[in-house]
Amino acid sequence: MKTVTVLGSTGSVGTQTIELLAANPDRYRVRALVAGKNTKLLAEQAMALHAEIAVVADETRHADLAAALAGTGIEVASGRAAMIEAASRTADWTMCAIMGAAGLHPTLAAIRGGGGVALANKEALVCAGDVMLRAVAEAKATLLPVDSEHNAIFQAMADGNHGAVDKIILTASGGPFRTASIDEMRAATPEKALKHPVWTMGAKISIDSATMMNKGLEVIEAARLFGLPSERIDVLVHPQSTVHGLVCYSDGSVLAQLGSPDMRVPIAHALAWPSRIATKAPKLDLVALGRLDFAEPDPIRFPALRLARAALIAGGGVPALMSAANEIAVEAFLQKQIGFLDIVDLVAQVMDTMGYRAADSIEAVIAIDEEARAKAHEFCRKLAAPVA
Ligand code: NDP
Repeated sequence: MKTVTVLGSTGSVGTQTIELLAANPDRYRVRALVAGKNTKLLAEQAMALHAEIAVVADETRHADLAAALAGTGIEVASGRAAMIEAASRTADWTMCAIMGAAGLHPTLAAIRGGGGVALANKEALVCAGDVMLRAVAEAKATLLPVDSEHNAIFQAMADGNHGAVDKIILTASGGPFRTASIDEMRAATPEKALKHPVWTMGAKISIDSATMMNKGLEVIEAARLFGLPSERIDVLVHPQSTVHGLVCYSDGSVLAQLGSPDMRVPIAHALAWPSRIATKAPKLDLVALGRLDFAEPDPIRFPALRLARAALIAGGGVPALMSAANEIAVEAFLQKQIGFLDIVDLVAQVMDTMGYRAADSIEAVIAIDEEARAKAHEFCRKLAAPVA
């Protein structure tokens, strides 16, 4: 029996994690569940899984959560400090699936607990990679990637011959605009951009897939996780999203992990590691699929990849400011304040304006994050202002 905490239990990754925990009651006992706002779903999950504590980040929703869980014996808390406290309660495994930079502190708290950390919140490694990896080493925590591509690479590296790795390849579906013209992309609405052809995901990561910033963030995440430089991490567009990641070894062998494009597969792998549990993900049918296509990403229509590589090479706080600016730009696009192509333009402007920053502590990362958000808001206001 493993104890498990789920940070971001009400989101896309979170609900799929809950589904797996609920299907395996003899293997997992739930310690803490943490959500942002959705107290209704959080309370349902906490009751169904007999969680020890449920925490909602938004303090104004405390009373709702307390009312929903009254008489159940489940502890109720709210606010940022409570979220961090819950994350630091020792659990055998913590699923870190809060969206964006809001996940930084809780993820760090979970790592410092020294248990297993299943990491979906890629922003934690992108923005504060050095801090997180130092904490992993100090706490002797086990970090397992949940992002499907990184989970695939992790599985393909299982024989331990890291020194013989030439390069790794992350695949990208290409998103909803894989074959769109630049004019179609300029005119794209949030509704169109949110319609991912393959994966069902939360709103922010769906837009990141449409701009390919998601793949940029993943290149940085892969560099941190596997200790490789940008030039040894390739990206290939693979519309079937069946081969999730490949590892190319010096002897010419290429090991890949394949599976249906279903997040329950990498989530189950991380939760059950080093063994495996069954999932309800559709079984891969290669004959029905018929073919697997691969292509180079188009650098003109998808400049986010280049920006992310530049941020990785610059190092320090540059990935953090890029990611923060991107969060604001995506939100502004979803609110219809800026256009689709403005998202990456705006991120580039924030990167140009802020330049290099050192980021050797979580406080430094948070300060950079806040400054980048303020700058991004400023640029958004300018873009959204009607032309005189
Ligand atoms: P969602 O937007 O679906 O869910 C986000 C979760 O975080 C929700 O539980 C939400 O709570 C919670 N949350 C939001 N803001 C806060 C906050 N300020 N404090 C505490 N909790 C908060 O996101 P996804 O599940 O899609 O993604 C989660 C992470 O996993 C992201 O980092 C993403 O990049 C990564 N990821 C996601 C994949 C996917 O398939 N979805 C694939 C690979 C990686 P509430 O709903 O109550 O507001």
